[in-house]
Amino acid sequence: MNNKKLNILLVEDSWGDYRLVSDMLNECMQEGFELLHADQLAAAIPFLEPGEVDVILLDLELPDVGGLDTLVKMHALAPDIPIVVLSQIEDESLAVRAVRIGAQDFLVKSHISGPLLTRSLRYALERRRLEEHLYRLAHHDVLTGLPNRKLFYDRFGRALAQARRYQKPLALMLLDLNGFKGINDNFGHHVGDELLKQVAERLSSVLRATDCVARLGGDEFIVCTGELADIQSTAHVAQKMLDVLDVPLVIGSTTFNVSASVGIALYPEDGENMEVLVRNADAAMYQAKRQDGAGSRFSFYSRQLDAANQQRRELHELLRKAFDEGCFVVNYQPQVDLHSGRTIGVEALLRWHDDSGAAVMGPDQFIPAMEESGLILEVGEWVLQTACQQAAKWMREAERPLKVAVNLSVRQFRDPHLAARVSRALETFGLPGKWLELEFTEEALQDDEQLAQETLQQLNRLGVRLALDNYLGRFLSLRDLKRFPIHSIKLDRTIIRGMTESPEDAAIAQAVISVAHVFKMKGVAEGVETRDQADLLRQQACDDAQGYMFAKPLSAAALTELLRVGEEAPHKIQ
Ligand code: C2E
Ligand code: MG
Repeated sequence: MNNKKLNILLVEDSWGDYRLVSDMLNECMQEGFELLHADQLAAAIPFLEPGEVDVILLDLELPDVGGLDTLVKMHALAPDIPIVVLSQIEDESLAVRAVRIGAQDFLVKSHISGPLLTRSLRYALERRRLEEHLYRLAHHDVLTGLPNRKLFYDRFGRALAQARRYQKPLALMLLDLNGFKGINDNFGHHVGDELLKQVAERLSSVLRATDCVARLGGDEFIVCTGELADIQSTAHVAQKMLDVLDVPLVIGSTTFNVSASVGIALYPEDGENMEVLVRNADAAMYQAKRQDGAGSRFSFYSRQLDAANQQRRELHELLRKAFDEGCFVVNYQPQVDLHSGRTIGVEALLRWHDDSGAAVMGPDQFIPAMEESGLILEVGEWVLQTACQQAAKWMREAERPLKVAVNLSVRQFRDPHLAARVSRALETFGLPGKWLELEFTEEALQDDEQLAQETLQQLNRLGVRLALDNYLGRFLSLRDLKRFPIHSIKLDRTIIRGMTESPEDAAIAQAVISVAHVFKMKGVAEGVETRDQADLLRQQACDDAQGYMFAKPLSAAALTELLRVGEEAPHKIQ
């Protein structure tokens, strides 16, 4: 027991028994205590405010109630306070029933002694502490100490019932950290754990006692705001949570910038029950994640959102099914050396075909959906394997080997197993690294530069070539490019499209190509459709080009045939 004075409430109508208990405690209780006294059940009520009483000694026969009923009523009045029963009569079955109802112990007055009484009180308190500890373990998240999903749902259920009864609004918010997985994968779980603890503390610090915040698992938190659930004040709370997480977190000697997205659903307009509200807050959170960068990082649920989300979920399922059923194929588009006119490589491009061979949807639409659902990792691995297999085939069977370029989306680029996957694919098909090129965008390099550098170095060690795709200078300036060990820069096709009409675009193309050369990289033009564009690019010393003017993306068989014919009559491919 700790140093705090123990408050013992004796509910007992006999003055003699009161004296007896008081004397015994004075004699045997080593720790400081105060004996409070009520001579009937009703008189005990004022003592039962939270934190007032530590343990109750309860006589079963009182002027206003008697027998086990006394215990039942007292337990209902003070469910959290341990109760030791004092009984006039020795009755084993009564004792068993009393304990079942919730008494911690059952003492017979005629057998009581000082040591027995004090030991019983001590045990009752210890047992209650243990029960509380077990309850905490079962209802709280061990890592952060916040309520867990179960406790949150209990509390939220109660808040919802109250809101229903008193016709009050209620707000439910889901908060998800951005980029947490990357930190966890790259810095280890202990750093991830510490980060979650700090996030939990920060969130608790900006919420009120009437709000409830819980960790749902992973890096997802859920918040229910008890009062003031109108749109403005809910938005205010969401913003406060986002702001407090915007302040960098320091773990050891490393500073982490975490940010979060929040989705909000309001009772009753966005849902009448818990399940619907949670689902809608989740949909709103995805919306917030998608619009990040375009303004606010929290989003209120709306019905249009629901329809859009439904469609998104359906597309995710459809893509999964199509992939499992083998509806995807890889096409290849030639890349040409602008000066010799020779095809030096191809870019692997994913296609989704229906049974008749027609395109179901373009990659610009389905790749972002795969990225969102995570399917891109599996599909990307398949593209990589297919492309390496094809490159190895060309290497062995064709006149000249062809370098094959494979696109990596942001999620693939940040996959900690990327280098291992690439290395495995090369080994499986016996392809030397120099015949594989990997394309990734500025976005992939932008967020965590250190991580991007490490990834590029690992890939470089495998001997593969690295190309920065769709370069527009949106996130990385020309000067930034120096810091990354890459081999070529692919100029975005919007620059190429404009360059014959717009002097600005022509100047941009020229600048990118010149800077690429300074850094010993190749300049590659994408989307070359006309001879004028090709001529201008040649004048600008652009190295390679790709576009409909040379060839559209083709199946491996069609491309092999085209190249065979091209070898015989090279002008055809140029
Ligand atoms: P990207 O990497 O910029 O690929 C080049 C895109 O330009 C291809 O579009 C290609 O068909 C198109 N294109 C080529 N020449 C011309 C031209 O002369 N004019 C015009 N207007 N367009 C041309 P596609 O195949 O629709 O792919 C779109 C994007 O989808 C790709 O852009 C790439 O980012 C992504 N993607 C395609 N396949 C994969 C894949 O296997 N994995 C990943 N992660 N992304 C892929
Ligand atoms: Mg590309």
